[in-house]
Amino acid sequence: MDNHVVGVLGGGQLGRMLVEAANRLNIKVAVLDGENAPAKQINLVASDKHVTGSFATASDVKELASRCDVLTYEIEHVDTKVLEELEEEKPFLDGTKWSRIQPSWKTVRTIQDKFTQKQHFAKFGISTAKSIAVGTSHPQGLKDIADQLGYPLMLKSRTEAYDGRGNFPVKSVSDIEPALKALANRPLYAEKWAHFKMELAVMVVKTAQEDSIDSWESITLGYPTVETIHEDSICKLVYVPPRGVSKNVVRAAQDLARRAVATFAGTGVFGVELFLLQDDTLVVNEVAPRPHNSGHYTIEACHMSQYEAQIRAILPDLASTIRPGSTDLAVSAAVMLNILGGPQPDSHLLVAKAALEIPGAKIHLYGKGDGRPGRKMGHITILGSSMSECEAKIHPLIQMVDAVRA
Ligand code: ATP
Ligand code: MG
Ligand code: MG
Repeated sequence: MDNHVVGVLGGGQLGRMLVEAANRLNIKVAVLDGENAPAKQINLVASDKHVTGSFATASDVKELASRCDVLTYEIEHVDTKVLEELEEEKPFLDGTKWSRIQPSWKTVRTIQDKFTQKQHFAKFGISTAKSIAVGTSHPQGLKDIADQLGYPLMLKSRTEAYDGRGNFPVKSVSDIEPALKALANRPLYAEKWAHFKMELAVMVVKTAQEDSIDSWESITLGYPTVETIHEDSICKLVYVPPRGVSKNVVRAAQDLARRAVATFAGTGVFGVELFLLQDDTLVVNEVAPRPHNSGHYTIEACHMSQYEAQIRAILPDLASTIRPGSTDLAVSAAVMLNILGGPQPDSHLLVAKAALEIPGAKIHLYGKGDGRPGRKMGHITILGSSMSECEAKIHPLIQMVDAVRA
């Protein structure tokens, strides 16, 4: 299909599902992560090319690059300086103008600092929650910012944030000191609270290397808009289509997500998280330059999964083969439930085993070993001919997840 070897920075569950898609196309993938990382457990096609190390360590990234043709990511917290150097040394695949790093390290550098990401969107008129950088660890500095944004606000780490680890809701002035303590020694910014009525997300595939917001319709494809439900800032459930949302809003969310992604250089899959506000307007929460939790459902529910889309979009001969329609739903409705670690190392298996009893439930376990509270251990996708059918099937599993958590 394609003889280029793909290198992935990071080998967690997203990398694992990326490898699954690549295996099916017989495309070689080499993974940079710890020994026996989830993505390495199932990839024998190119196991001789895996690198043991970290996506945050320059020498390890260089070693991966030396074994691969095209580099991509399953996580944005990577060392972009070394990627910049690698591109200077050899920008393109032999005989082409196709960048060896997809999407561009510049894109990842902008996105990995959430405040820089917000400033980037402001330049293009893409609305986000109002944000102010916090330049001091002194409580008075944050109090002054709170006077501008109002309470509640969300204090956020600019970098290294995931699954809400890096967020602290500041409901009143008395939360300021605990918030600064909880996020001590991290670069911070404050974000105006979004009183959303729903969180939505859209996976977007970018197939052209250039960035151009004006060309968003020709350089991006949108997956369906989904409803996401977060608990303690961690994604818990994904519903597609979103429940009780008008066609206009669903369409507006998809268009906004595609416009946001069109501002970034390079190809690949992007996850766009959105807040739907009370007046039906939309703002971008954040963008991930990689496959995303809110797109797991695409494996079984869409014609082409987000993982297959990522593999194809980063390879020069395959990017142009992605046609409109391939990102569409192949079923009427789907629900995805995350399985998080619970109080016991194997608590998450209770839910996975219960799902075995549900006809058609698609069970994914990531091979992370022992569970810890809040750790993403797997997920379950239910397909249906209606949302009510999906909801009826997933209901007992949600109850179980809630009981394990409690
Ligand atoms: P991940 O990368 O896993 O999605 P994260 O750590 O980057 O998470 P965010 O996406 O910024 O964190 O926030 C996690 C959740 O916290 C959001 O999905 C939303 O539920 C809530 N949240 C974040 N920012 C705000 C805000 N300004 N107002 C209200 N709720 C917010
Ligand atoms: Mg994030
Ligand atoms: Mg998020």
